[in-house]
Amino acid sequence: MSKIIAVANQKGGVGKTTTAVNLGACLASLNQKILLVDIDPQGNTTSGIGINKADVEYCIYDVLINDVNPMDVIVPTELENLDIMPATIQLAGAEIELVPTISREVRLKKALSLVSDQYDYVIVDCPPSLGILTVNSLTAADSVLIPIQCEYYALEGLSQLLNTIRLVQKHLNTRLKIEGVLLTMFDARTNLGIQVIDEVKKYFQNKVYGTVIPRNVRLSEAPSHGKAIISYDPRSRGAECYLDLAKEVVASE
Ligand code: ADP
Ligand code: MG
Repeated sequence: MSKIIAVANQKGGVGKTTTAVNLGACLASLNQKILLVDIDPQGNTTSGIGINKADVEYCIYDVLINDVNPMDVIVPTELENLDIMPATIQLAGAEIELVPTISREVRLKKALSLVSDQYDYVIVDCPPSLGILTVNSLTAADSVLIPIQCEYYALEGLSQLLNTIRLVQKHLNTRLKIEGVLLTMFDARTNLGIQVIDEVKKYFQNKVYGTVIPRNVRLSEAPSHGKAIISYDPRSRGAECYLDLAKEVVASE
């Protein structure tokens, strides 16, 4: 059985893309067949895993808007067991173009239903908004993974995200669950990070992953080399932690 996980938080810069790429790559290294789905017009997952956007013939835009078969859009990555449905800036138009279309919220769900059984996990990297692209992702998903950055106001905006999740559960996808809450960019040298962890655990309780992702410069360097952390620097703290997270995700099945 395949599982579709949306990585979502409407705040930018909290580690969604870093988590989608590196959780995907680490799961692939554990022999899980993975499809990464980039549904952010910025296409950071696409470039971060080493796909040159200039070489992308069809992207997720064509799947959502032009009914192109997802099989014709998915491409392999350098890593074994890891494929990607890429995004380019063309996707920026989709937010507006989808508005007047029929079944606009279920476009991604329909497309993924054609391919998901070839994968153990499909990981969808959402844009930093709660618009139609994120709603498509939550509608297609079995569960949502919420990265939260260990900083001031970590919980700010989360009630809007949880409200959107509830609305999708009510009207579009009754089976949607919270997969887990991931604390990112933790800095052990500050008390603040520890306070944020306590606060988030009070709020989400056993939904919070035991693995906490530290601030690690190797994680921020890897995308400019088009590599996941396990290829770029497999001995880094970042690589160890995302591998731990992947094991936690697999063990929770
Ligand atoms: P989002 O997709 O939520 O906007 P990103 O994953 O792109 O967030 O992360 C925002 C920035 O922070 C990027 O430059 C990324 O490389 C960096 N970053 C993410 N996680 C870490 C980390 N654990 N340690 C250091 N830098 C990180
Ligand atoms: Mg991103």
